[in-house]
Amino acid sequence: MSSEQKQIDISVEEKAWKALNSVQDPEIPVLSLVDLQIIRSVRTKGNDVEVEMTPTFMGCPALDRMKEDIQVRLREAGFDEITVNVDRTSSWSTDLLTEPTKEKLRVFGIAPPPKMNETLPVTLLLPVSCPFCGSTKTNLESPFGSTLCKQLYYCDSCRQSFERFKPL
Ligand SMILES: [Zn+2]
Repeated sequence: MSSEQKQIDISVEEKAWKALNSVQDPEIPVLSLVDLQIIRSVRTKGNDVEVEMTPTFMGCPALDRMKEDIQVRLREAGFDEITVNVDRTSSWSTDLLTEPTKEKLRVFGIAPPPKMNETLPVTLLLPVSCPFCGSTKTNLESPFGSTLCKQLYYCDSCRQSFERFKPL
């Protein structure tokens, strides 16, 4: 109802988002869970907060760690009751990543994922640019990098291995 609507304190919600923005991805410390669009929504009621999140990959081993970090940061921000729901029905895609987020990935040394669309098979065949020198003379070394979310590439130009965030 409208009276309940008035009780929603915007600043409390902002405080929650700010705290969440400081939760780093366990595998890519330059990105926060907010950057990765993993946090879908935040609802606050008084000093209680409810967070809706989407896992990037089903059964991603980092999920428990993320949930724990969310709890810790929100508790530090002063919230009492903290609920973290994992919405397994919503799907996450690398297309949700914004350009500034992709740039952060590249600077960190991980090739960002290409935009996925209906030309998916073509997208997967597109050359991958090396995040270090920009060369497209790169080869897929292993479909799996240090985690399931990444692939390992090798750059023939600067002779360095790099990871690419797997498009999804
Ligand atoms: Zn290179």
